[in-house]
Amino acid sequence: MLLRVRYRIYKLSTKLMKFYIERKPTSESRSLSFEFASIGFLIQSGFFELPLKKLGEIMKYMDYAATTPPHPEVARTIAEVMSLHYGNPSSLHILGEHSEQLLKKAREVCAGVLQVKPSEIIITSGASESNNAAIKGAALQFMNRGKHLITTAIEHPSVYECCKQLESLGWNVTYLPVNHEGTVTPEQVCAAVQDDTVLVSVMHVNNETGSINPVQEIGKQLKVQHPRVLFHVDGVQGFGKLPLSLQASGIDMYSLSAHKFRGPKGIGLLYVREGIKLQPLLAGGSQEGGRRAGTENIPYIVGMAKALRLAKEEQAQVAERLRHLRKVLIDGIAAIPKLVLNSPPDGAPHIIHFSCPGMKAEAMLHMLEEDGFLVSTRSACSSKKSEPSRILLAMGKSVEEASSGIRVSLGEEHTEQDIQQFLAALQCAVTRQEDLKGRG
Ligand code: PLP
Repeated sequence: MLLRVRYRIYKLSTKLMKFYIERKPTSESRSLSFEFASIGFLIQSGFFELPLKKLGEIMKYMDYAATTPPHPEVARTIAEVMSLHYGNPSSLHILGEHSEQLLKKAREVCAGVLQVKPSEIIITSGASESNNAAIKGAALQFMNRGKHLITTAIEHPSVYECCKQLESLGWNVTYLPVNHEGTVTPEQVCAAVQDDTVLVSVMHVNNETGSINPVQEIGKQLKVQHPRVLFHVDGVQGFGKLPLSLQASGIDMYSLSAHKFRGPKGIGLLYVREGIKLQPLLAGGSQEGGRRAGTENIPYIVGMAKALRLAKEEQAQVAERLRHLRKVLIDGIAAIPKLVLNSPPDGAPHIIHFSCPGMKAEAMLHMLEEDGFLVSTRSACSSKKSEPSRILLAMGKSVEEASSGIRVSLGEEHTEQDIQQFLAALQCAVTRQEDLKGRG
């Protein structure tokens, strides 16, 4: 109880600081705003500050699709490697050799988990870089084949905006429309291929709704009908939740991000099938076989390898648990009038998205936060945008539905009791919003 009061005061002081900083732009009031900001700061750094550990006790983090809490074993490994193995793997002395060995081992672990060759793994700074490296790298490398790319209307911005950028530079891009469940079919993809198509990029699981694209069937059909066209898959939200064999699916390139499977942020990988040469995004040193320059971040690479292995080992068990919790949550949402479910019934086990037409999603999010549940309005990188969701509009949702979305994304820590408590808080938030609307 005391913790929750402290949490409310902490939030209030943050609001005070923001209010005075944002609303008082004149020079005279700037000193006032500074004073208020200082009071807010003092409150936050004194008695009312909530130690993060305590915050974890009273809040339920349900935003796993945005990022996941690092696995304790991964965090321990990173700290150890960071303090002991600080040599540059390109250095010729013994510390450099140690780091090089760690890098080699980590690459082997990643390759083993994905059942590919170590030389087919390029370490990157995360999936935004992996996606850009795959798409731009292929577009630049194969300009002699043509300048046509195919993707879908519901990709993550790191694919969508990358394609927009290439469009502005003279490439033609087909953005395949999706059905009301947010997916494309293999037939649709194959029918869009032209003589000058270089690459198809389709995400496995959509980060906003959890819709699953049939990437295995797409890859298989594409390789039979158009073997020269490259196939890239953004695997970020599917890995650790759904089985996928890269070898058996005709996938040429595959992007992953470590912080989505309990690894560190700012590190990821791109699988590139042997024999495919890409133009590197980052020119410079000869790291990653000349395919991505820059001194390697050994602690994070080792941490990513560990997180990848753990996620794979726990995949089947975690997915089954999450599927059950998802069903309880979906049934509960369906029982609350006014809410509209946007995730397909057979979507990825960890993501549930719904709209609250006529209500303010951000206000709803904060009401849920006050009750101890941390969710998001949509994907993390778009949650500060005020326009309707591009993804929901592409699925045929109304502007009202696309502007009032809430995403709940679950992880291994959650229990059925958490879901029941969340549903009760959700019902309360809906009632409060309806009351406010009635009064307004
Ligand atoms: N692709 C998808 C589907 C994602 O959900 C995300 C992150 O939200 C990314 C790519 C980008 O990953 P990163 O944060 O590593 O750049």
